[in-house]
This record gives sequence, C-alpha cells and structure tokens, in this order.
Amino acid sequence: MDERLKYAPCGYMSITHEGIIMDVNQTFLDKMGYTQADLVHKHLESIMTIANKLIFHSYFYPFINLNGQVEELFINLKDSSGQSIPYLLNGKQFISEGVEIIDCILMQMGNRIDYELELRSAKKQIEEAYWEKDQALEKLQQIHMEIEKKQAELVEMNTLLVELSTTDKLTGLKNRRFFQEKLEEQIALYSKTGQPFSLFILDIDHFKKVNDTYGHQTGDYVLEKLAGILKSHSRKEDIAARYGGEEFVLILPNMDVLESKILAENLRQTIASSAWEIIGSLTVSIGIATITPQDSNTSILKNADQALYASKANGRNRVTHIMNLNEKPL
Ligand code: GH3
Ligand code: MG
Ligand code: MG
Repeated sequence: MDERLKYAPCGYMSITHEGIIMDVNQTFLDKMGYTQADLVHKHLESIMTIANKLIFHSYFYPFINLNGQVEELFINLKDSSGQSIPYLLNGKQFISEGVEIIDCILMQMGNRIDYELELRSAKKQIEEAYWEKDQALEKLQQIHMEIEKKQAELVEMNTLLVELSTTDKLTGLKNRRFFQEKLEEQIALYSKTGQPFSLFILDIDHFKKVNDTYGHQTGDYVLEKLAGILKSHSRKEDIAARYGGEEFVLILPNMDVLESKILAENLRQTIASSAWEIIGSLTVSIGIATITPQDSNTSILKNADQALYASKANGRNRVTHIMNLNEKPL
C-alpha cells in the first residue's frame, strides 16, 4: 500500500465482493487497536454487531451491485476491546484484471456523535425552557385573572359601601347627607343653567301618638310603608330622602310651583286614603319651596320648613307652598 494511503487521515480498506478484508491501512488499525494479522483475510462482518450486519446486507451490497458505490453509510464497527465505534463509510467498486475489489473509506464519527448529543441535549433544554415559560405564562395568566376578579369584587364592594353610606337603613331611601349633597348640586345647576327645581318637606302628623299607641315597631312599619309611597310617586330623577325621624324630603328637578303643588297634593291624598294596617289611617303635612334667584341651599330649606310649619299650624294633613304662605292655604 502506498505510504501516504497507509497513514491517510481516515481509515481505508479493500474488501472482496464477499466482504473479505484484503488490505487495511495503519490509520484504521491504530484507531481500532488491531494489527494487519487480526483483520486481513477476515470477513468485515467479523467486526460488526448483528444489527450492523443486517444493515450491511440490506444496504451496502445492493447499492454496490446497483450503482457500483455506496455513500455515507452509517455503521458501527467493534474495536479490539469490543467497543462499538461509529463510522461513516464510503465504498466504491473497482475491477482490475477481472477481479472485483471494493475500496472503503472509513471516517470515525466520534466527534460528530458528540456534537449530535450536545445538539440533542441543547434542544431538550430549549424544549424544557419553553415548557417552563409556558407554565409560567399560564400561572401569570391565572394570577392576572385572580387580580381582575378581586378588583371586580372590590369595585362591587365599593359600590355597595357607597350605597350603604348614602342610604337610610330603615326605609331604604337616601339619607340626609346624600340629600344635602344633591341639594347643593341642584342649586349649582340652577345658577349655572337656570334649571329650576322644587323641594318638599313632609312630616307625619301626630306620629308620636302612633308610637305611643301601637309601639315603636308599628311606628317603624309606618315609616317604611310611607317611604314606599314616596318612592312610587317619584320620577327617576327625583331624590327622595329621610331627613330624620318622621320627616322626609324630596328634590324634584325641573318642577315649577304649579306642578309641585299638584304633585304634593296628590301625594298627600294618596297617603291619607291608603289602608294603614293596625293604625287605620295616617296623614302628612307638606311644605314646598321652589328655587328663586334669591335662594341659597339654606334658605330654600328654611322656606320649605316654614311652609311645612304653616301646614301644621293650619290644621295638618295639608300642603303649603312658600309662595302661598301669605295667601289662604290650599
Ligand atoms: P306633629 O304632627 O306636630 O309632627 O307631631 P308628631 O308627633 O309627629 O311630632 P313629634 O316631633 O312630637 O314626634 C315625632 C316622633 O317620631 C317622636 C319619635 O319617637 C318618633 N320617631 C322618630 N324617629 C323614629 C323611628 O325611627 N322609628 C319610630 N318608630 N319612631 C320614630
Ligand atoms: Mg310629625
Ligand atoms: Mg317632625
């Protein structure tokens, strides 16, 4: 064998068509720990595992017979210690003086396998990282959803708290504080746009007697029922509130003197003609004031109260508008 081929930077061997090794270079022998005597005239399959023998039979020989050559056949060969070493084999048929020889180049694949293993492990790591990222994202999404849910609960709770802080517990009407705020708003709106409104103060007649005769519980029931009547007589934009004790107030946006007197009279009659279980009958006195350019939020309240006082003084169960105070009662 040519000296340079003997030490070529790859394994080299010549085999017969039957697979008998005829020649092998030193590079291959050194790599695999064999001597010439170990391999020459031996069958190439003697250094193959059973699985590789099968590959050799089903791939190597048919290709040589068909194409005269084989390229990049991946095969494992056993070294002198029996360890399996991966090789990439290129084989080519050569016929010289009627004798067929197959020249084989054998490139050891150790490094490449290492790279492949590294690649595979890197790929696995990436896949794991992706999986972890997905898990983290999913968890984040869950946390996000929980936060949103908690926020919605908080908003709901806040709304409830605002509702509670502006509501009278017994009657469910708005409370005095809320009424004061709305009254200021209506006065501000009036001075800005000129939109009028009327204000009722309604006081139950002889309510003390109801409590004294039928008990406080019945008194409470009367307050609740009266609140229901006020609500049913209110429009969406009206504010019906409990001012305190057995006194109620109504803010009626966009309602002038005449309209407010009609509504109050209607309300008075409804209350007076309602069936009041246990106590039999109930009447209320009402004082009305409609906003004028001279009014402030204290004066309009004072006026309505003065009108109420007149209703009481004139015999109760009646309506008085501050405008008619000096006239005959309705
Ligand atoms: P007038 O016709 O002059 O208004 O007489 P009145 O008896 O209605 O007025 P007075 O101010 O003398 O009495 C009001 C009563 O309302 C006294 C109080 O015990 C009662 N009262 C106030 N708040 C409540 C309540 O929440 N529940 C009950 N049951 N009674 C209440
Ligand atoms: Mg009263
Ligand atoms: Mg009173």
